[in-house]
Amino acid sequence: MTTLETCPGCQAVLPKIENGAIHRYMTSSAGCWAIFNSLNDPDRPLAPSTFNNLIVDAYAVQHPGTPSDQTINSVAIHAMVLYGILERGFKPEQALWLRQRPGRIKSTEKHSRFHWLTPPAFASSLNVTDVANCKTPLERSELLERWIKDVWSRWSEEHGEQIGIWFERFVISERL
Ligand SMILES: [Zn+2]
Repeated sequence: MTTLETCPGCQAVLPKIENGAIHRYMTSSAGCWAIFNSLNDPDRPLAPSTFNNLIVDAYAVQHPGTPSDQTINSVAIHAMVLYGILERGFKPEQALWLRQRPGRIKSTEKHSRFHWLTPPAFASSLNVTDVANCKTPLERSELLERWIKDVWSRWSEEHGEQIGIWFERFVISERL
């Protein structure tokens, strides 16, 4: 009998992988992490879509882990990328630029600029397993976009205002 395991991030229920690899701080089940990595599998491709640039951002904020300097920074940066693109009219092609912008700040301030945001609930949210289970590249990419927007809307509802403030300060402002 297959033992099932609920992903602590996205809540997907998947067959348990004993001693499977997971990311260092984006806390997920090993099964979910394997599916995330399989999104790059050439045998099961995604259709070309600019939203493919945001997979890592949505995954990171749906698997925020527990409070630490590293997870606080990761969630803030990836949430700001989603905010910039879904709320402020930046293009998905600018995701890398958006991700790197906050790095301009002096290293001494790096760990005090953001704080932990209690993650929203992800019960019955879309997740990478839903994306991977779609039959065609086009269906996968369409669901991928819906997943990214679903994840962001949950964050936005609870923390959109704070993420917007950080975005102004650390992405838009030239005065650091
Ligand atoms: Zn997961």
